Amino acid sequence: MARPGGWERRAVIRGGRLAVLLLTASVMVAAQQPPAAEPRVKALLISAGAFHDYLHQSRVFVEAVGAAVPVDWTIALQGSARGTTTRYPIYGRPDWAAEFDIVVHNECSADVGDPAFIRRITEAHRTSRVPAMVVHCAMHSYRSATVDDWREFLGVTSRVHTPQFRIPVQWVDDPIVRGLPADWTTPMDELYVIEKVWPGVRPLATAVDYRDQQAYPVAWVHEIDGVRVFGTTLGHGSVTWDDPVYQQLLVRGFRWAIGRP
Ligand SMILES: [Zn+2]
Repeated sequence: MARPGGWERRAVIRGGRLAVLLLTASVMVAAQQPPAAEPRVKALLISAGAFHDYLHQSRVFVEAVGAAVPVDWTIALQGSARGTTTRYPIYGRPDWAAEFDIVVHNECSADVGDPAFIRRITEAHRTSRVPAMVVHCAMHSYRSATVDDWREFLGVTSRVHTPQFRIPVQWVDDPIVRGLPADWTTPMDELYVIEKVWPGVRPLATAVDYRDQQAYPVAWVHEIDGVRVFGTTLGHGSVTWDDPVYQQLLVRGFRWAIGRP
């Protein structure tokens, strides 16, 4: 786990190799080699913030997606393991997303509500037409904002989640998730309560809150101003990230977002 306090790490992966640049050390990890025929994808993985093991999640994401798609990765491991007020440095420039083919938002910063900061995130996607994946705590990031720009971009509005439980997932009949195991139950996870589904969202999977029997989307695709957004609220702990079905869901979402389903 990351240590608390102000810190920043940034990892850059080239050619299927992972170089994690820490403050004082570097680590090389061999990744699986994907098929060589596809054009390479430049992906930014923002894996940052509180309450979750973002180092482990980054590694799982890179290995799962990297085995299916040839990717040059830039990974932003930023923020604080305990803080919820971090303005991630990756968003420092207005054109922060321009050089990438996809941005994966796996971040957790609930108490940043500055409209200008949030709009610098969403406008970069709109301006550069860069697709996105939004994962788990991304849906509870910028939660204190009074403007809806982030929530509209995600495609859902959520502010609370259930206690963790084994969540039975019901897939929608959709090509993106077709063939995934019909009886999949998460090992243990949080179910995010969805207040609102925004126009342009197509749910891919739902799950039921055991407390009141309300069903909520847990995976979806969204198109907003020509930008593709794949979202899933699942992914709290390592038991979910280590689950091969969850990893396949991430791969399917990544492929759809870059237009290579
Ligand atoms: Zn969580």
